[in-house]
Amino acid sequence: MTAATADAPVPPVAPSMRVAVLRGAGDVAVEERPVPEPGPGEVVVRVSSVGVCGSDTHYYEHGRIGRFVVEEPLVLGHEAAGEVAAVGPGVPAARVGQRVSVEPGVPDLTCPQCLAGRYNLCPGMRFFATPPIDGAFAEYVVVHAAFAHPVPDGMSDDAAALLEPLSVGIWACRRGGVSAGSRVLVVGAGPIGLVSVQAALAFGATEVVVSDVNPARLALARDLGATEVVDARTADVADLDRPPGVLLECSGHPAAIGQGIRALDRAGRAVLVGMGGDEVPLPLSVVQERELEVTGTFRYAGTWPTAIALVAAGRVDLDRLVTGTYGLDRAEDALTAGRRDPDSVKVVVHPRS
Ligand SMILES: [Zn+2]
Repeated sequence: MTAATADAPVPPVAPSMRVAVLRGAGDVAVEERPVPEPGPGEVVVRVSSVGVCGSDTHYYEHGRIGRFVVEEPLVLGHEAAGEVAAVGPGVPAARVGQRVSVEPGVPDLTCPQCLAGRYNLCPGMRFFATPPIDGAFAEYVVVHAAFAHPVPDGMSDDAAALLEPLSVGIWACRRGGVSAGSRVLVVGAGPIGLVSVQAALAFGATEVVVSDVNPARLALARDLGATEVVDARTADVADLDRPPGVLLECSGHPAAIGQGIRALDRAGRAVLVGMGGDEVPLPLSVVQERELEVTGTFRYAGTWPTAIALVAAGRVDLDRLVTGTYGLDRAEDALTAGRRDPDSVKVVVHPRS
């Protein structure tokens, strides 16, 4: 019998692994790298599924997002699930074999924002696939043990990975104060819009109107429970019979943001989730006359327990969003799937297939 020592991973994992690396804009290659070793309080996760996010595609196409610039080779992917393959010092060996969903941003847990409970605003956050932190288009990743959330057996690998975008939707609902009886307008029926629809319904919203320009996505929104859909090519959300009290803006389009805000009821709340132009026109008189609250969202904090419970209970269906599955050697195809196929909603990478 081999005794596990305090400073060696338990059990040892393979010596090397495959990763898909972004070497520059439009250039992704599969490389062999050493399997990362877990530090104290960390676990190694053997990755089973990783969702492709719009931000991954943006890094692939442009090599940067705002102030985050890819200057060194970067592993993309931050929506990951898998199985604990080894544990670092201080983590119970019993966690090996546990299926987990990875919360991809680990804060410092010591700064004023963390201590105020807003760890998503931690300036010391280390977030997957954000330069210089590598992401999860890899066979293995290392993460803080507390940010590898156990998931129930009945949850698929893909759903466990997509708890990350669901968390964005849950956080948007929390920021918007969505609760029983809320009337919610979701602008943009991409993956974040579609999880926001489901989260709003799970939070008790009784009307969830969705607008988009893509009929296939609107049909999916209706299948997932939206009470009304608006084709933004031919109709205006400002003409809704009853104005919504909460806007979850998931498109990032400047014109759509303005229309969504104009659609709001008095004392409504606008939650700006979608990323688009850095500066957009704001219908100031509407914001003032109706005393609207306008807020941004940045990732999420404390959402995984809610996300796991909602999916486990069948209140949110994440598997329905998956429109394509790729191996690691086709990571580039996965990153461009949304551009090539307008009916693509969410694609996932299975690094070990
Ligand atoms: Zn902090």
